[in-house]
Amino acid sequence: MNDLFGRNIDYLRLSVTDLCDLRCVYCMDPAGVEKLAHGDILSFEALEELVRCAVALGVTKVRLTGGEPLTRRGIVTLCARLKAIPGVKELAMTTNAQTLERFARPLREAGLDRLNVSLDTLDPDQYRRLTRGGELERVLRGIEAVEAAGFPPVKLNAVLLGGVNDDQIRPLAELAQQSPRSVRFIELMPIGVCARFDPARFVSAQSVLERLPELRPLDRDGVALRYTAPGWAGTVGLIRPMTDHFCPACSRIRITSRGFLKPCLHDAAEIPLRGLHGQALTEAMMQAILCKPRQHHLGPDEPSGAGRAMYEIGG
Ligand code: SAM
Ligand code: SF4
Repeated sequence: MNDLFGRNIDYLRLSVTDLCDLRCVYCMDPAGVEKLAHGDILSFEALEELVRCAVALGVTKVRLTGGEPLTRRGIVTLCARLKAIPGVKELAMTTNAQTLERFARPLREAGLDRLNVSLDTLDPDQYRRLTRGGELERVLRGIEAVEAAGFPPVKLNAVLLGGVNDDQIRPLAELAQQSPRSVRFIELMPIGVCARFDPARFVSAQSVLERLPELRPLDRDGVALRYTAPGWAGTVGLIRPMTDHFCPACSRIRITSRGFLKPCLHDAAEIPLRGLHGQALTEAMMQAILCKPRQHHLGPDEPSGAGRAMYEIGG
């Protein structure tokens, strides 16, 4: 279905849990997340019903996110159930990959089409500090397992923090040199614990390009502008929510693990879907798509209006 600005809404990001096994410094408070009562998060039946309804309105691509989706009990079964819904052409997941090594093959067998892995540094100590306890080695084994399980080339997502991990631009980019992976640098967004970040922490997409002068523009892949270099097998993507609003190309809606539909990541509007079924659910979803704003207003002095943290919405 089209929104009021003619954008075809075909992509649903579905948060399946608020919980996470990491506490990345730009996403979560060191204390972590208060565990919700079991009844507060959407059941598999409810998630299935939401996806069926979204598909009937034109969604073809569903991405599972969180919190950390692999911490949701029964995640492989959930993938199989969602992939079995007619009209779900692509089922994807974004993960921190801490437990991906053991999940990669079962997820592939359950019908998951694609995996994006968040990886902000190749330095094990820096990784541990940035994620407050994560193990880099597990991520690297997870990526190998994804490639061995027959998934399409993995997309690696990195958020850069000036003075923290911006020394990793080249090492991370070079993961796309020998293999057809896509390494994507995402500009830090002023949301949640980062709502008012120190400007010194911001690393623009432009400064990534300056540090990788061999890159040449290739194409656009969703919200990412892609680049490659002579002789490289893979690509480097730049996702620039701060320096180049990609809102005109936005085809997404998001549903939080508590069942609120967010028409825009950075807008306060949320439409409660919990407890709705049949026509009432369809109408609520249509209304939500129709109130998708033209664009967000993020800026150095303008934090996100989301009213929620990234781990609640799913990025
Ligand atoms: N736990 C999973 C993971 O980290 O891949 C999925 C959920 S996480 C909220 C989704 C994405 O949001 C991650 O790639 C993470 O780096 C990104 N993210 C979190 N906080 C952010 C921020 N303030 N600015 C930009 N990206 C952020
Ligand atoms: Fe967890 Fe992902 Fe947030 Fe890191 S970015 S704390 S892995 S939800």
